[in-house]
Amino acid sequence: MRNRGCAVRLRALPLMGGAAMTLTLFAPPDASAVKFGKRTLKPHMRGKDVRVLQRSLTRLKLPTAVDGAYGKLTWKNVRRLERRRAWRRDGIVQRKQAKRIKRLIAEHRARKLARRRAAAGNYVFPVADPHNFGGASARFGAPRSGHRHQGQDIFAPCGTPIDAATAGVVKVRAYQAKGAGYYLVIGGADGTDTVYMHMKKASWAPVGTPTYPGQQIGRVGATGSASGCHLHFEHWTAPGWYSGGYPYDPLPELLAWDSYS
Ligand SMILES: [Zn+2]
Repeated sequence: MRNRGCAVRLRALPLMGGAAMTLTLFAPPDASAVKFGKRTLKPHMRGKDVRVLQRSLTRLKLPTAVDGAYGKLTWKNVRRLERRRAWRRDGIVQRKQAKRIKRLIAEHRARKLARRRAAAGNYVFPVADPHNFGGASARFGAPRSGHRHQGQDIFAPCGTPIDAATAGVVKVRAYQAKGAGYYLVIGGADGTDTVYMHMKKASWAPVGTPTYPGQQIGRVGATGSASGCHLHFEHWTAPGWYSGGYPYDPLPELLAWDSYS
């Protein structure tokens, strides 16, 4: 067996901020699964698109609990953003304003990525959003039934984007029900391979796709043998994954890349 996954329960995510996380986990099911920007959002509405709005506000330095309910704080922060950008100040997010917010997020992400790439050299941390490294059982070498853990687990909410850590080419895109779930192996330009497991669904990138550092390749999930959403990350020496290389403890370098993310 290549990897039997990570039988690690989802721990509290200290970096998420307790209150926000609790709300996210225990909020009632979405009243609506409408895509952000498809309808006008205003106070008292609920839905997935309200969550996207709240996450966007938080990224734009207006911390907002991501609970999917357009409450007072969401309204206040929408007004703050409107004031800041000199948009019409009504606390309502029309489709046009949603488009502007999406553009701001894209610019924000591009700037952040440029900083990460400049600072970290050839590698970037594979999860740009809040995350943590779990406990002892999430570490490289932790005992698993019949083998040892070959990577480091990075815990983040389901659906968090996973980015390629380095430039390279997709070498393997596959699914393993009793192990890795949906996973991807990137053959790096430096000859080492990085491996990304338990993705929410199959990566959009087929074998042969060139990748650049920070390029989104999938989303955090819990497919295969995983309890709780996390990215299982492996780094293999050249010539790579099951082709003569061996996996090593990636935590020190992950911490170094993370300090720039
Ligand atoms: Zn793992």
